[in-house]
Amino acid sequence: MTSTHSNQTKHWQYIDAQHHLHPFSAHAELAQEGARVIVKAEGVYLYDSEGKRLLDGMAGLWCVNVGYGREELALAGYKALKELPYYNTFFQTTHPYVAELSQKLAEITPAGIERFFFANSGSEGNDSAVKIIRYFWNLQGKPNKKTIIARKKAYHGVTMIAASLSGLTSMHPQADLPLPGFVHIDCPYWYGDGGNETPEDFGLRIARALETKILELGADNVAAFVAEPVQGAGGLIIPPSTYWPEIQRICRKYDVLLHVDEVICGFGRTGQWFGSDTYGIEPDMINMAKGLSSGYQPIAAVGLGSRVGDAVFNSKEEWSHGFTYSGHPVAAAVALANLEVLQKEHLVEKAGGATGAYFQKKLRELADHPLVGETRGVGLLGAIELVRDKATRDRFDPALEVGYRCRKHSFASGLVMRAIGDTMVLSPPLSITEAETDELFDLARHAIDLIARELGYL
Ligand SMILES: *Cc1c(COP(=O)(O)O)cnc(C)c1O
Repeated sequence: MTSTHSNQTKHWQYIDAQHHLHPFSAHAELAQEGARVIVKAEGVYLYDSEGKRLLDGMAGLWCVNVGYGREELALAGYKALKELPYYNTFFQTTHPYVAELSQKLAEITPAGIERFFFANSGSEGNDSAVKIIRYFWNLQGKPNKKTIIARKKAYHGVTMIAASLSGLTSMHPQADLPLPGFVHIDCPYWYGDGGNETPEDFGLRIARALETKILELGADNVAAFVAEPVQGAGGLIIPPSTYWPEIQRICRKYDVLLHVDEVICGFGRTGQWFGSDTYGIEPDMINMAKGLSSGYQPIAAVGLGSRVGDAVFNSKEEWSHGFTYSGHPVAAAVALANLEVLQKEHLVEKAGGATGAYFQKKLRELADHPLVGETRGVGLLGAIELVRDKATRDRFDPALEVGYRCRKHSFASGLVMRAIGDTMVLSPPLSITEAETDELFDLARHAIDLIARELGYL
């Protein structure tokens, strides 16, 4: 561990390395270097245990949409903790927080989505969604309609089902996934795979891979297509304009349910309330988490349109599913307060308006950099492709770990920017100001300059 750290930091790093298993971390390296200890956060800034300030260009894990340190959310949680710290929603019981949150979600989610099931994480939401999809087709008397089609580079979470939906192949071998009944088709990653095709032609061709797969499996065997509006953890893959309308047409034609994973795109991230709004998608069901509470409490929700929702509601038998903490009062209270802040401060409108426009303008300015092959973004999402050759889109040798090194420079100079391979990704709080956006892109350019210099480009 680094010797410049205080004894307090070293102590936390030591006990953490001894006893804490970290998500998505290589533990040997972590133990050697010591974890960064984050002790507080305010607005768009994080502070570590050495007093160093970091601009959080990722809003945590794409989730702190209203920014850190919101008094309203803290007070809503405190009030619920005092009044009703826990009660469940099993066996015909409810409480005001979850009832009001359900009604609020019906107001803001895409047209037709009207009933909500609550879980504690995006992964549980997707697991629950797959159980609902299977149950739906069983109720329809079509027990063979079970295969689910998802996409390569998709991220839908880590439980056995959510990881089976995910198309990031690194997630599969350690647990012998995907489970049977989950298949993956290509995703609309134009910069990576589009070659000389126009984005529009490419988008159509990739969407039609869904039709080909449905015909290959037989429409009577295909239950649902599952997808994020914009693929987040897979590298911020923004679909060409032709993609989603064609997907929608194909799902309708073959009576395949469309389950849209809004865990990142929901709650303003793409400049409208939901990614489905931004891309004109009419989902049968959606999954929400992250921005639902801005990460202040663990909570997720699966929203159902009338076709699926009516089938479950009108079934005479008991629905055998639900978590001890489904619709937890404290989480529901905090989510409600979060939605009120988003509405009161017009953060979604601003993400689709001035805040988003300024962020996208600053992002595009990086395109002139000798290492930057493409910048792309929507709302408050941005990606920067670092490439060996801008003209041919040739990648660096993965062994050079260009993205990872760029991320390290970024952290060291005070910006949290994520690396997905050599794609640098940004997703700041929707509350970010213009001055903070300027600072973010100054720091991002600085980090890219440092890696470019090491590689001999500057
Ligand atoms: C983060 C994420 C999930 C998983 O959510 P968890 O709360 O980590 O289980 C699912 N889908 C998408 C699109 C995500 O980004």
